Amino acid sequence: MNLNVLVLPGDGIGTEVTREAVRVLRHVAAKWNHTLNITEGLLGGIAIHKTGTPFPEETARLAAAADATLMGAVGLPEFDDAPPEKRPEKGLLGIRQALGVYANLRPVRAYASQLDSSPLKNHLVEGTDMIIVRELTGGIYYGTPRGITGDGAEMRAVNTMTYSRFEIERVSRMAFHLARARRKKVTSVDKSNVLENSQLWRRVVTEMGRSYPDVELDHMLVDNCAMQLILNPKRFDIVLTENMFGDILSDEGAVLAGSIGMLPSASIGDQRPSGAWVGLYEPVHGSAPDIAGQNKANPLGAIGSVAAMMSYSFGLKEEAAAVETAIEAVLASRHVTADLRPSGAPATTEQVGLAVCAAIG
Ligand code: NAD
Repeated sequence: MNLNVLVLPGDGIGTEVTREAVRVLRHVAAKWNHTLNITEGLLGGIAIHKTGTPFPEETARLAAAADATLMGAVGLPEFDDAPPEKRPEKGLLGIRQALGVYANLRPVRAYASQLDSSPLKNHLVEGTDMIIVRELTGGIYYGTPRGITGDGAEMRAVNTMTYSRFEIERVSRMAFHLARARRKKVTSVDKSNVLENSQLWRRVVTEMGRSYPDVELDHMLVDNCAMQLILNPKRFDIVLTENMFGDILSDEGAVLAGSIGMLPSASIGDQRPSGAWVGLYEPVHGSAPDIAGQNKANPLGAIGSVAAMMSYSFGLKEEAAAVETAIEAVLASRHVTADLRPSGAPATTEQVGLAVCAAIG
């Protein structure tokens, strides 16, 4: 198979974890005789430095031409006080919107060998296995009007949370489809006791659920969900929610999985005429300026994102399973990065990447 992949390493540890993810991608392609064509592009802080904008047109063009995009992370402390338009994170929102990847799938699993990495008691996290499906191209991160106006005491800021029926339907469909291949349970999360936006969300998800009578649907308020994810994570199979709630809740997944460095993600858009899904793959974590450049970032979230790419964009289930099994083997070896509290000296980012390749064989 021909695999045309755009790689956007981004900033900070984004470049380090992406290097290892690409190592694994090359290894898989060689082992299964796929023709891999990798193009590299600019996104985030590095793109601002080189082109003046966080999401250059050239990057948009390359992403549209690629079969799949693998991204690291963006963000540099020097831009912390810059206006939103001039921040690296604007590049992230830009590419998600340009590719139309409206469903962000964030699997959260507690691996048996990693239970002690979680600050929660073992019996709480053991058996956790869910996918958080976060709407990614709508809601308050994109809604208008937005901005800051006025001066002094009259200064005012506004953001707008907006969803259409169409936007809710398509991400719900994705959630119900995923549930069918798993434990057949969708928990839709909203704030319908306060927000009209959430009332529409709940109404549309309920209507969609009628087309999937084999899938159990329940609704939960976001504040309760934040608590239940910690108290009883095993109760969740698919968690379906809007953009900002999903952004916040999915970081709780880091507590369940033991480290944010563990968590992969797949952002999926429409199906192309070839049948492949438009896909953007990235670890959940950010650019981690506090550990950048030290070869100690955990690359397993980025490597897990390669497994997701194999599965969703290329339909290569055997290759995806091989990468996931190799991740489990490396975790079981306990020669892992510092964030996972290894048994001996911590492994470097590079050593973990090499170990995953060795485990794939
Ligand atoms: P972060 O995820 O970068 O870091 C949070 C904490 O987790 C830090 O202590 C960091 O050292 C640790 N961590 C993160 N990834 C790790 C890994 N792979 N291995 C080991 N430890 C890891 O979040 P932050 O500090 O809030 O944000 C830093 C920058 O990243 C900001 O500019 C932010 O806007 C940006 N950001 C980008 C993305 C993205 O590109 N998708 C996501 C979140 C944050």
